[in-house]
Amino acid sequence: MKYISTRNINRVVSGAQAIVEGISPDGGLYVPEKFPVLSDGDWQKLKQMDYTERAAYVLSLYLDEFTYEELLGFAKEAYGRFYGDDPCPLVKVDEKLFFLELWHGPTCAFKDMALTMLPHLLTASKRKLGENGKTLILTATSGDTGKAAMEGFRDVEGTGIIVFYPSEGVSDMQRRQMITQEGDNVCVCAIKGNFDDAQSAVKRIFTSSAAAEKLAENGWKLSSANSINWGRLAPQIAYYVSAYCDLINAEEIKAEEKVTFVVPTGNFGDILAAYYAMRMGVPVAKLVCASNSNRVLTDFFQTGKYDTHRKFVETISPSMDIIISSNLERLLFEYSGRDDKLTAERMEQLKKEGEYTISGEELAKIRGLFGCGCCDENQTKATIAEYFDEYGYLIDPHTAVAAGVYDKEKEQDGVCVVVSTANAYKFPADVLEAVEDKRENDPYKAAKELSESTATEIPEPLCGLDERPVRFTKVIDKSEIDEFVLKEAALRA
Ligand SMILES: *Cc1c(COP(=O)(O)O)cnc(C)c1O
Repeated sequence: MKYISTRNINRVVSGAQAIVEGISPDGGLYVPEKFPVLSDGDWQKLKQMDYTERAAYVLSLYLDEFTYEELLGFAKEAYGRFYGDDPCPLVKVDEKLFFLELWHGPTCAFKDMALTMLPHLLTASKRKLGENGKTLILTATSGDTGKAAMEGFRDVEGTGIIVFYPSEGVSDMQRRQMITQEGDNVCVCAIKGNFDDAQSAVKRIFTSSAAAEKLAENGWKLSSANSINWGRLAPQIAYYVSAYCDLINAEEIKAEEKVTFVVPTGNFGDILAAYYAMRMGVPVAKLVCASNSNRVLTDFFQTGKYDTHRKFVETISPSMDIIISSNLERLLFEYSGRDDKLTAERMEQLKKEGEYTISGEELAKIRGLFGCGCCDENQTKATIAEYFDEYGYLIDPHTAVAAGVYDKEKEQDGVCVVVSTANAYKFPADVLEAVEDKRENDPYKAAKELSESTATEIPEPLCGLDERPVRFTKVIDKSEIDEFVLKEAALRA
C-alpha cells in the first residue's frame, strides 16, 4: 500500500515514510492510494477477535510493510496500558442508542487510542527505513492530544517531544496533566494565543526548510503527533470496525444493517476515520459531525463555504475549539474526485483569504453521507444533566455536544453510536455544574463532589494529580515558537 499527498498525487511514499514524515513537503496530507475493502472472510475473522487483534488486523491492511504479528505486539503493549478489560467498550444507553467509550486509556481521552500506538509505529517505521537519527515530535494541542502524546512518547529511545497549548484554552485538569508530565524527553509550553495559532505555527515549522536545516545540525528530524499524521489516523479506523463487530455479535443489528455515528468534532480526525471505515465496508447510514459554538463545520456542511472569518469561542469542550480543521482537506480530496490541484488551490485560498467554497455538486454528494449539528454551552450542559437524570449515565462536555446533536436530529431511525471522547472527570467543574447546578472551580474538589453526588468513580489516571510536582511553567508569544523549538532542540542535541 502506497500513500499520496492530497496536494500532489505524484508524491508517492510508503506507509513507513508517511508516518516518519508526518506531513508531505508540499504541505499536503498523506492518504492511502486506495482503500482496502473488507471481504466476508475478513469480517468473519474480525468478529471473533478481541480489540487488540482487530486493531492489528485493520492496521495490517494499511501498513503492509508490517506483519500482523508485529502490529499485534504493538497493540498489546499500547492497549495493555488501558484500564478495565475492554479498551473501547460499546455501552447501550437506550433502545438503539449506544456510546462508544474511547477514554479508558492513560490520559482518559480518545487520543490515547492512537497515541499509545503511534510511538511504536514511528520507531518501527524508522527502523524499516534504516533511519537512526532522532525524531522530534512537535505537537499543537487543544488540550488532550498534548498529554496523550507526551504519555505515549515519554522516554521512547531516539525521540523528543515538544507540546504547545493555548494558555487560556484548556481545562484546569488538562493543564495540570500536562505541566506535571514526567519523562526526560518531554517539554510543554503555553502560548499566548488560541489552538489555531499554535497549530499554524507548528505547521509553519514543518514546511520551513531553514528550520529543518538547523534542526538537522543537532541531529533532529521533525515529525508530528497531530492527526495530520497517518500513524495517528490509522489506529482510529479500527474502533469503528470494532464497534460494528460488537453490534453484530450482540445481535443489536443484522449483518449489513447500516449504523449512524455521531462524532464530536474539532480537527476532523475522528470523524474522518469513520469515513475511512465506511470506505472499507462498514455499513454507515450517516456520519453526523457535531460541533460546539465554534460551528465552522456546521456552516460548511450547510452551505459549502468554509469561512474562518468568525470569532474564536472558548467553550467547556475545549478540545473542539478549532476553526481550521486540518483533516477536512483529506475529505475534500476524496469528494473532488482526488483532484490534487484543486485541493492545493483551496488550501492556498484558505491560508490567504481565510475561506473557500466547494461546488454545489460536491456539497450534495457530501450531504448524502454527512449530517451536521451544533450545541451551544447551555445545550451542552443541559444534555449532560439530561443523560444523567434519564439514564444515570455521566458524560463529559465533548460527548455531550454529540449527544445533544443526536437529540436534535432524531430523524434517523436505525441504530446510532455516539462517540464518547473523554471521561467526565477530565472536566469535573463543568460537569458538576451541569448535574448539580453548583460551581466549584477547584478541579479536585469538584471531582470529589461529583463522585459523591453521582456515585461514580474518579478514574485511576486522574487521581493524585494535585500532588505531582509542576515541571513546566513557561508561557511564550506565538511569534516565539520557532525560536523556542530550535533552542530546545539544541539543548537536547
Ligand atoms: C480531540 C478531541 C475531540 C475532537 O476530535 P478531532 O479528531 O480533532 O475531530 C473531541 N473530543 C475530545 C475529548 C478530544 O480530545
